[in-house]
Amino acid sequence: MMASRAVDIGQANGGDRLFARIGAFLAAHRLSPDPAHYAFAYEVVANATGLVAQRVAELTDGGVRLTSQDIASLGGVSVAGTPVDPADDDGTMSGDVDVQQALLDRMMFQLDGFGDAMRIVHAEANDFGRDLQRSADTMRDMGAEAGIEAITQLTADMIGRVQLAEARLDTALRETEELRTALDEARGSARTDPLTDLPNRRAFDETFAALHRDTPVTVAICDIDHFKQVNDNFGHAVGDRVIRMVAQTLASEKGMMVARYGGEEFALLFENVRLDDAAQIVERVRRTISERRPRVRETGESIGTISFSAGVAEGRVGEGRAALMARADAALYRAKDQGRARTITSDTTP
Ligand code: GH3
Ligand code: MG
Ligand code: MG
Repeated sequence: MMASRAVDIGQANGGDRLFARIGAFLAAHRLSPDPAHYAFAYEVVANATGLVAQRVAELTDGGVRLTSQDIASLGGVSVAGTPVDPADDDGTMSGDVDVQQALLDRMMFQLDGFGDAMRIVHAEANDFGRDLQRSADTMRDMGAEAGIEAITQLTADMIGRVQLAEARLDTALRETEELRTALDEARGSARTDPLTDLPNRRAFDETFAALHRDTPVTVAICDIDHFKQVNDNFGHAVGDRVIRMVAQTLASEKGMMVARYGGEEFALLFENVRLDDAAQIVERVRRTISERRPRVRETGESIGTISFSAGVAEGRVGEGRAALMARADAALYRAKDQGRARTITSDTTP
């Protein structure tokens, strides 16, 4: 992939031709020259046999002009560069997220290419301006030929135009950087649960997967007890606050990753922490929460005790992530079975 981009825009001459074709594409479709449109045009022009270009050709068959909606449907990114919110109701990720992530990644790639092309044109504009200045100086030094003043004036005009073009390019480059930052942030938000600001399940799974296989790992799954009753008795908004309270209390413990794993479920990832130590930490948080007497802010009504049940499991040699999580889950179900509001550890021996 990197190689094909280098061929497309890596040479100065190719760079400005490509730039001109991108400009022509934008003009033909009356698209504003914002970075999202540029990036889209770049994809179409630089990769003429690619899927996006083919779809554009189909859509524009018979002289139809592309709309922003067409572009959004082909590129998945609105003009503002904001992807569709990927989190669904219970904070877990929908299957579309992978597609959106792929689109974001492609946008990043396109933006890199766009930025490179702009830099090339920028450098050329600089050279051109410098050459013009040099010729004007030479002509002036040579003496008072009648036409020289006019030519000098012309050259000054041209320098002015080049400077204007440079300023526009500077703006476009800055906008590219801003879009890149926005995309970076969007990428981050695809891994953050919006209700609690905790990492979501995807982030948890990725962090877990990225650990070295020799790293000793202990995991815990905490599930709020009888949470449905909180929703039923006090409403969804109060339920949300309870989830946030539990999230914050868990997150206030240092030394482990805390993720919102599902609706009222949290997953904890401990590195280099043995089973009993991890279980002790979980128990400490569980007790802290169950000693609170939360009330509904607006009415003062008591919500009652909030407790959770937890299952903790320590990784065995050669055990996969799914198997370890399943053992933590099984321990959680035993905790529920035995009356809830407790922490159960899974056997360390197979
Ligand atoms: P148990 O002790 O067996 O875990 O009982 P429970 O009521 O906690 O479990 P159950 O799975 O029956 O219900 C979980 C409820 O959590 C159901 C769902 O509506 C609610 N829930 C899931 N996500 C959210 C959320 O983001 N906000 C709110 N307010 N409720 C949620
Ligand atoms: Mg649950
Ligand atoms: Mg529950």
